[in-house]
Amino acid sequence: MNIILCGPPGAGKGTQAGYIVKNFNLYKVSTGDLLRDEIKNNTDLGNKIKSKLDQGLLVSDDIINNLIVKILSDKKYYNRLIFDGYPRNLNQAKSLDLLVKKYNQKISCVLSLNIDKESIIKRILGRLVCTKCGLTFNKYFNPPQKENYNCNLIYLKTRTDDNEKTIKNRFDTYTKKTAPIINYYIEQKILHEIDGTREINRIYDEIRSIITSLET
Ligand code: AMP
Repeated sequence: MNIILCGPPGAGKGTQAGYIVKNFNLYKVSTGDLLRDEIKNNTDLGNKIKSKLDQGLLVSDDIINNLIVKILSDKKYYNRLIFDGYPRNLNQAKSLDLLVKKYNQKISCVLSLNIDKESIIKRILGRLVCTKCGLTFNKYFNPPQKENYNCNLIYLKTRTDDNEKTIKNRFDTYTKKTAPIINYYIEQKILHEIDGTREINRIYDEIRSIITSLET
């Protein structure tokens, strides 16, 4: 099965994707992580997209499509993907439908994490990401501990786009460009709306039971 996790920035998509990957036999594809890798590695693409990320704007659909084709065409990931932060607009959602068809796969469900703007700001300003293992934590709500984090604390960093000004742009971009995909998936009858304001484990319990019901 392939699954899409959507929701505004800071809704907890990365955290929940981490839990899902750990418990189900799936691979996470975060287009945001793929783009940040390009920037970190100073590639031509990285230099081209950095300003978009810093402004909280979407990078072009062509760039994203190329990244997704590489993954969907890879046998290793066949029907075992969890998309985090993709698709980000209707155009990308429609391209994804064509691509899954082309590569003989399907989208089994779309999990939409709902959360208000105030909670998002608090979550994003406390976010810490491990540059080594990719796990996401929060200084205030979900601090790294021995039981959930094995890397050295020096790897924990704040994302450069996690500042108040960019958060506002990212939220506006979500409302204008990404939110319309919700209706698209409601029409396809594969959308599950999830209250993303609850405690992490409670959210995951609900997600786990949805995914388990798809497996049976
Ligand atoms: P994220 O890590 O998902 O919060 O994404 C960080 C930034 O990467 C976004 O604010 C966009 O600038 C860019 N980005 C990530 N995914 C996409 C996508 N599917 N389409 C366009 N831009 C994206």
